[in-house]
Amino acid sequence: MQHVNVFKFGGASLKDAPAIRHVGNILKTFAQQPLVIVVSAMGKTTNALEDVAHAYWHGRPEEARGKLDRIHGEATAIIDALFQEVPEELTVAVNDLFVSVEWALEESPNAEYDFDYDQIVSLGELLSSHIVASYLTRIGLPSSWLDARDVIQTDNTFREGWVRWPETTERAERLLPPLLQQTKFVVTQGFIGNTSENYTTTLGREGSDYSAAIFSYCLDAEAMSIWKDVPGVLTADPRIFENVSKIDRMSYREAIEMTYYGAKVIHPKTIKPLQNKSIPLYVRSFLEPELEGTFVTDDAGDAYPPMVAVEREQALINISTRDFSFVAEHHIKELFEHITTTRLQVNMMQNTAISFNVVVNDIDDRVQRFCTLVDDQFKTTVDRNLELITVRHYTPEVVESMRRGKVNLLEGRLPLTLQMVVKDVPVMRRKDG
Ligand code: ASP
Repeated sequence: MQHVNVFKFGGASLKDAPAIRHVGNILKTFAQQPLVIVVSAMGKTTNALEDVAHAYWHGRPEEARGKLDRIHGEATAIIDALFQEVPEELTVAVNDLFVSVEWALEESPNAEYDFDYDQIVSLGELLSSHIVASYLTRIGLPSSWLDARDVIQTDNTFREGWVRWPETTERAERLLPPLLQQTKFVVTQGFIGNTSENYTTTLGREGSDYSAAIFSYCLDAEAMSIWKDVPGVLTADPRIFENVSKIDRMSYREAIEMTYYGAKVIHPKTIKPLQNKSIPLYVRSFLEPELEGTFVTDDAGDAYPPMVAVEREQALINISTRDFSFVAEHHIKELFEHITTTRLQVNMMQNTAISFNVVVNDIDDRVQRFCTLVDDQFKTTVDRNLELITVRHYTPEVVESMRRGKVNLLEGRLPLTLQMVVKDVPVMRRKDG
């Protein structure tokens, strides 16, 4: 079999019927080659489904049902705009998806929120992949639909499934080649996987890139492409900064560092599977598909301009012993056990004689749960709503400009990486103004 390529299209590229038609036009230019097409949920569907899960879990099933109906209505409008005559299988598949979630909403919530979340939120990718596969087939690009859960096997960590690689590889090698023989294109979902008990898991927000990398790895893909609404990997997020520029070539190592520190362009787990098999990655613009984008590979040199990544919604937890003894190694070991059980993600840490500081993503009530767990031994104070700014290949000018208007709470430097945790400087205003 010809080597396969893996393409990933995110929510922005599938946000409405014209966007999906545009993706169809891009794919027409690749009609001759076997492609695995991994899709995200359309537009902001995942956020809307998170609201459904939230309302359901907090005992408001009617509200959850109303929100779900709205998502169904929007999907139907997109389908009606794409097809003059909607294929029967598509209507059946979409109805089945919504009915299964409607039934789930009639049951009482499970003991674990993350479990219910995954069963509900996974609807987004299942829906978009059915629509895209049917649409491509309709425009003369015959495409098979594959349930990614038949391939990607994970453990039971709901909302952040860990991939079981041997099982996943075996299934990909067995299931994909016959499908790619039947139709050149196979459309599947990003973001979702399956446990050994056959429950749906998700791989973490924005995890569709990672799904595409899993397929690429298991199939020894020739290359993987992520189609974005930006021209490639940029030196900073253009929604936050001016004067950003595109990086033409980048090493896997640099891409891992940048995404780990919060560059949103690629999901951080994406690069490693590709690097392990030297599979090139292209980050390209679906708005200007003729442009080259960024090429991520082994031998991209090591000269880079300063690059900035910003992680928002950070919490700084200052931890000290109740008896003011030194924070010793055994304390740190114990603290990390609690960090692991509460699933805090640590982005930075620093210790002094009597305190230990960690900067974490402030997700749900995890920080609060951690503080309660350690309360008998440690005193904790928490500073919220912070930003973690990471500058790779920093220069004094760039660092200075990052500091402007901010209070710097914590800073760390390595030869190539500078990190600071900041909050906005409070502005004084006259009371009589
Ligand atoms: N739909 C999921 C999300 O919005 C996964 C993805 O798009 O990568 O997080």
